[in-house]
Amino acid sequence: MAPTHVLRCCQRGLAWIPVIFIALVVCWSYYAYVVELCLCKFIYLAVFHVSFIMFVWSYWKTIFTRPSTPSKEFCLPKSEKEQYEKEQRPETQQEILKRVATSLPLYTRTGAGAIRYCDRCQVIKPDRCHHCSACDMCVLKMDHHCPWVNNCVGFSNYKFFILFLTYSLVYCLFIAASVLQYFIKFWTSDLPESHAKFHVLFLFFVAAMFCISILSLFTYHLWLVGKNRSTIEAFRAPVFRNGPDKNGFSLGFSKNIAQVFGDQKLYWLLPVFTSVTQSGPGAGVGDRGVAGGVAGNQLHRQPR
Ligand SMILES: [Zn+2]
Ligand SMILES: [Zn+2]
Repeated sequence: MAPTHVLRCCQRGLAWIPVIFIALVVCWSYYAYVVELCLCKFIYLAVFHVSFIMFVWSYWKTIFTRPSTPSKEFCLPKSEKEQYEKEQRPETQQEILKRVATSLPLYTRTGAGAIRYCDRCQVIKPDRCHHCSACDMCVLKMDHHCPWVNNCVGFSNYKFFILFLTYSLVYCLFIAASVLQYFIKFWTSDLPESHAKFHVLFLFFVAAMFCISILSLFTYHLWLVGKNRSTIEAFRAPVFRNGPDKNGFSLGFSKNIAQVFGDQKLYWLLPVFTSVTQSGPGAGVGDRGVAGGVAGNQLHRQPR
């Protein structure tokens, strides 16, 4: 094996460490709450298990849902690709891209007003698509690369990510609230001496710590959903044909929510894919519904 290949394999393996860490903490919290603390009240155990299952389910889906990539319509046709590769001058390369882009639903440009092209993936970037260097691919409606799920958060799993934050918050809040009375007893030393004491102490600390750290991320992402903005777009406004516009993709509050969670409220809290894929100017491109650019273009308020 070539050294670079070995290095790449090591990097891939190491990238799972944060995920394994979270999984171990979750397993321990289950053991500590159900086995050690053993509240033995049906209502406690019922709520605990519902939040635990929803949390694990949405976490799993966030980790293992592959990011969506641009559809083949966004690749250059063979002849144009050869021309593009032979060409040295950026202006002529742009001419080729512009020619291909006329048949594509593209509204955003680079800061300099050029067609956005990924040299690495050799694809015209659909609106809201960005190249992730960690995943080494172009990801539709990329939000950010999350080390805690070792995956890109984007069009295909953004709903799962929001639900993962929601249920981890519910899970931690519930644990912290129901362990609080035992935690107080710990300090007033009313709790009988046993190794359960150690678990009670740590359950409360860990749950409270996770609560605090998740809460800010959770509220920030809810705000982003309401604005139909990705984290990348919040840092740098997308550039349209007539300049940057940070609200360029906003369709109004309720439609923005529906873009991520779908039209049927029944499915909003379930980690099943319901994000809008088929409406607006970009619909019907490609063969997967999601299509190359749909994730971006359909979200656009009006073509400009
Ligand atoms: Zn790329
Ligand atoms: Zn990534």
